[in-house]
Amino acid sequence: MSNHLSDRIKNMSTSATLAMAAKARELRNEGKDIIGLSLGEPDFNIPDFIKDAAKKAIDENYSSYTPVDGYAELKTAISNKFKRDNGLDYGLNQIVVSTGAKQSLFNVAMVVLNPGDEVILPAPYWVSYSDIVKLAEGVPVEVTTQIDTDFKMTPEQLEAAITPKTRMIWFSSPCNPSGSVYSKEELEGLAEVLKNHPDIYVVSDEIYEHINFSGGHVSIAQIDGMYDRTVTVNGVSKAFAMTGWRIGYIGAPEWIAKGCTKLQGQVTSGANAIAQRAVITALEAPVSKIQYMIDKFHERRDLVLGLLGEIDGFNLNVPEGAFYVFPDISAFFGKTLNGATINNASDFSLYLLEHANVATVTGEAFGNPNCIRISYAASEEELKEAIARIKAVL
Ligand code: PMP
Ligand code: GLU
Repeated sequence: MSNHLSDRIKNMSTSATLAMAAKARELRNEGKDIIGLSLGEPDFNIPDFIKDAAKKAIDENYSSYTPVDGYAELKTAISNKFKRDNGLDYGLNQIVVSTGAKQSLFNVAMVVLNPGDEVILPAPYWVSYSDIVKLAEGVPVEVTTQIDTDFKMTPEQLEAAITPKTRMIWFSSPCNPSGSVYSKEELEGLAEVLKNHPDIYVVSDEIYEHINFSGGHVSIAQIDGMYDRTVTVNGVSKAFAMTGWRIGYIGAPEWIAKGCTKLQGQVTSGANAIAQRAVITALEAPVSKIQYMIDKFHERRDLVLGLLGEIDGFNLNVPEGAFYVFPDISAFFGKTLNGATINNASDFSLYLLEHANVATVTGEAFGNPNCIRISYAASEEELKEAIARIKAVL
């Protein structure tokens, strides 16, 4: 039979993070001792109090379809969380629970974008943004940021990227892959530019909100004039180590929330019931309950920066959040190591996989061809061993 894949799927890239994780798994199954630093996935177990809530939900027979936009109790917990952590007032009609923040992002793209609408993506950006935008027939417009400004977009860069077709801006803070955190002043600078462009909406992906070593997290929706034009995206995958439970959510203007619910009603019918019940307990708990994981990530960040800093050719900034470092390794381009010529970040990442048995992700997938992403959501032992191996093969 011939292959009749749609153009839509043919033109879509495979998620580079998931592809690298799959490759690492495959090599491990072949007996290779691979250290996986490619996937942004906490290596902690889910806290017991959340597991208990899920077990209770099963026993209490939460087994039917849920409301498409999520249980009212969960949306209330989300609304309270937005108030408690972000000073944001979202009513239940502005909140939609989805199958991971990834689906939340997809919903928003499908609901807001018309074909040809431009979406500004400060690069490096999270790997899936550009393909999600393209799937919704939007046009990603990359704004290249530099390591010496901590990979953050300046107001001048934003202004220069805006055209009459600009419909949205998508960014994450703390940022995947750079770990950068936008300060209140920096967000105010971007908001100032947007004052002159009232039709542009912002997607603020705050899934790493709690994994922040710089002090306070600021949501752009808190800045004057931004609330009515911002979709605040969040989820439990990262801070609560619940990646496989697949719960994400948005707080948004009501018309966007309604559109997302309509879309979800035809596509998934809503997120998993047991996971939703467990997330009520997760979000009602004080952040102090998960502080031990945040403290560990902080220690590991310092460990990784120290060890990578000893390798010639790694140009690093200091990420203030998430659990990634994003070194510029372009000093190796044009070199031949152990018979392998390194011309770009993909070659470099592949070289580390094949020669050091360490899985990382090429920066090309995040819109930056000079860097690689290393996730430090791994044990100290694994991190030390991985970096020793990297050093040895370079
Ligand atoms: N946004 C960012 C910046 C991420 O790193 C991830 C990672 N998975 C997601 C969204 C999607 O998260 P989820 O597991 O909730 O789909
Ligand atoms: N967000 C994580 C990452 O960037 C998980 C993988 C994915 O969802 O693509 O590695």
